Amino acid sequence: MRLAGTHTHVRRIWTVELRPQAGGPSLRCPHCTAQTPALQASSARSAALAHLAHHARANTLAPHLRTCQCRERGCCWHPRHRGCAGPVLLALTRDRSGRTWRLADTCAACTAATSHTAIVPDTLCSPHPDSAPARTRRPQTDDEHRQRVREMLTYLASALPSVTSPAARLLALQCALRADRHGRVRLSAGLLRGMRLHRRPEVWQELTHCGWLGIPDPRAGGLQVRLLDDALLDQAPSLSARRRAAHWALQPSPFAATAAEAPAQRLAALALAAYTAPAHPAPDMATLARLCGHSPQQTGELLDRLVARRTLAAWSHHQDTDEVHWQPASPLRRTPAAAHRSAR
Ligand SMILES: [Zn+2]
Ligand SMILES: [Zn+2]
Ligand SMILES: [Zn+2]
Repeated sequence: MRLAGTHTHVRRIWTVELRPQAGGPSLRCPHCTAQTPALQASSARSAALAHLAHHARANTLAPHLRTCQCRERGCCWHPRHRGCAGPVLLALTRDRSGRTWRLADTCAACTAATSHTAIVPDTLCSPHPDSAPARTRRPQTDDEHRQRVREMLTYLASALPSVTSPAARLLALQCALRADRHGRVRLSAGLLRGMRLHRRPEVWQELTHCGWLGIPDPRAGGLQVRLLDDALLDQAPSLSARRRAAHWALQPSPFAATAAEAPAQRLAALALAAYTAPAHPAPDMATLARLCGHSPQQTGELLDRLVARRTLAAWSHHQDTDEVHWQPASPLRRTPAAAHRSAR
């Protein structure tokens, strides 16, 4: 649709409210006056995300027309004033009580300065995959896997409860990337053994207890699960592309050798690997910590441990910018053409 001649800024802010009531909260949306019946408390968060994503999907806008909605409101969403900078992202913010959720186009600098905020990958809020041109057979690069994993870790950081363990986060990432459009996932016993998560029912219980996934038949040979997170049902990249990213995440270059480490170190190494791209700016400590499900201080300790285990040669935290920089112990091979060809 085209609005000829209009240059008024398009408002790309959506909010929903979860109203507590007997029998579970209900979701209210002022944009479509949707009002859901009582939700289970555990699924309320994902219902809010899914509803907001649905509005964003229905109101897509060419990237060059998207503007920082925070700036248009005088940057009232965050305390410190730093100028707007970076690409315009979809930022998901919850208020302190957890009752109101807001999805809005926000620049990278404002997103970073706003508390209780996570970036929602555009791929979750873009039109249905079937309407995008098919491009599944092209071999994919490590950088594409990195981007996919980065986006999914970012999403999970806001979708999973903050107390979720690193092992459960690693498992959730595999499930989210391998889910078909109905949210069904099948994980083989071999895959779980490779992740050192075979016969670890307590890790699955974390994800079922918070209502993120369901296990219809735990006695099945492999493990068949169903994601209950509505926001993940209609993902834009093809399943085969996501599966390859999931495979990459098991041995993420340049930290492929961390498979035997404890889950907390593996998750930290994976988060770093996802940001180890020449073209991508260094992440800040707050972002890394959120992806790892830890405090910034604990995340620093994890990075120290990666240095002690010779996964990292060194890392540093720049206090003024909050940026984290690191050097892998084994340097990245700089032959992109050859690397792409060997990547599966
Ligand atoms: Zn609505
Ligand atoms: Zn701002
Ligand atoms: Zn801004």
